[in-house]
This record gives sequence, structure tokens and C-alpha cells, in this order.
Amino acid sequence: MTSEPDDANASFASLGLRPELLGVLSDLGYEEPTPIQSATIPVLIEGRDLLGQAATGTGKTAAFALPILEHLAAGDRGKSPTSLVLVPTRELALQVSQAFHGYGRAQGARLVAVYGGAPARHQVDALRRGVDVVVATPGRALDLSARGALVLDSIRTLVLDEADEMLDMGFIEDIESIIALTPTSRQTVLFSATMPKRIDKLASKHLRDPQRISI
Ligand code: AMP
Repeated sequence: MTSEPDDANASFASLGLRPELLGVLSDLGYEEPTPIQSATIPVLIEGRDLLGQAATGTGKTAAFALPILEHLAAGDRGKSPTSLVLVPTRELALQVSQAFHGYGRAQGARLVAVYGGAPARHQVDALRRGVDVVVATPGRALDLSARGALVLDSIRTLVLDEADEMLDMGFIEDIESIIALTPTSRQTVLFSATMPKRIDKLASKHLRDPQRISI
């Protein structure tokens, strides 16, 4: 059951989130936004690109998940995903997709996690049934795209989560290939715990006038 938004999440309301999401957050016991959520949610709802320095545990998953859900169309949605979240590991893919699933349940958001080290068949079947948000490790995303199972033409928001980790793991070429398959009109969001030069380089190549946030 989803309760009505109350005063406790008035501060989430002031960030511009819709009532279904406020109800879900209230049910989850989230009383107020964390600093990164207050800083990023309005910027992302507005549609701007964002470069955020933030570690795990700061509430960054909700910081990018809630604006994506805010933008999700009501009613019939297409088959291809409108958002793609790239993460370094299978564990993070599962964790982020679970969080998304929780936040998106009042809207019936369709989530699929795709990652290596597991047979592709179930992931392909899930993608074929239709999906709003895909959370993926870069290698598997590219593989499923090459097979035609993951279509990236409709991506409106691309999130690179834990970007420094992804680069450390050698995913840069896969990430570049995936970005090239998404529309240039997309919104791009990059989160990283550290901001070495190569993250800055990646950001200046693919983000447009990003809002910079450091928590
Ligand atoms: P993350 O940094 O995204 O891994 O989130 C860390 C933990 O904080 C997760 O267990 C979230 O469920 C929780 N969390 C995120 N935002 C809030 C909030 N505004 N209020 C309470 N808990 C939160």
C-alpha cells in the first residue's frame, strides 16, 4: 500500500517529485533528502547533464533514480529502454536495479539488470518483454546491443555510476562504444568517487555544460 505524502517528505516535494514517488519514499521511511539528493534532483529533473563526485552511502542511487522515474511517461511505454545506467560490477547492477524497482513500483517501472557471468538468455527475454530502465555492466550491455537484444536508440538519460571504478576495470572502450550508440540529445550523468584527469576527460568529451556537484 502506498500512503499519501505527508509533511515528513515535504522537502522531497519541494525538489519537484510527483505524488506517486513521494508516497513511495514515505513508505520507505525516507524523511528528508540527503545532501546529494537535494543538490542533484532538481538539476536532473530540469534535464541538465551532471558531473557528481560522491561515494557510496551518500544516497546517490536515489539521486539519479528519482529524476529518471519522474520523467517516466504514464500509461503505455515503448519496448526499448529510455534510461541506461552503467555500473562496474554485477553486485552493483543488482543493488541499483533493486533500489530502482522499489522507488518505481507505484509507476510500474520496468527494470532489467544485465551483467556478465550469467547466461544471457533470461536477460534477453526480459529485454524483449519491454523495459524502461536497464542497469548494466558495460561488456554485457555491448554484447546484448550487438545481438540486437538491447536497443539504445530511445535512451534519454545515460548514467555512468562509479565511473572511476569502471575505468580502473578497463571498460573505457566499451563505455565509448555504448555512448556512441545512444542519441546525442541524451542527458548524461556521471558519478565518481574520485575525479582523476581521465574522468574529467571523459566528462568533457560527453557531457554538455554539466552542473558540477561534490559531496
Ligand atoms: P546509496 O548511497 O545510494 O548506496 O544509498 C545508501 C543507503 O541510504 C541505501 O540503503 C538507501 O536506501 C538509503 N537512503 C538513500 N536516501 C535516503 C534518504 N533520503 N533517507 C533515508 N535513507 C536513504
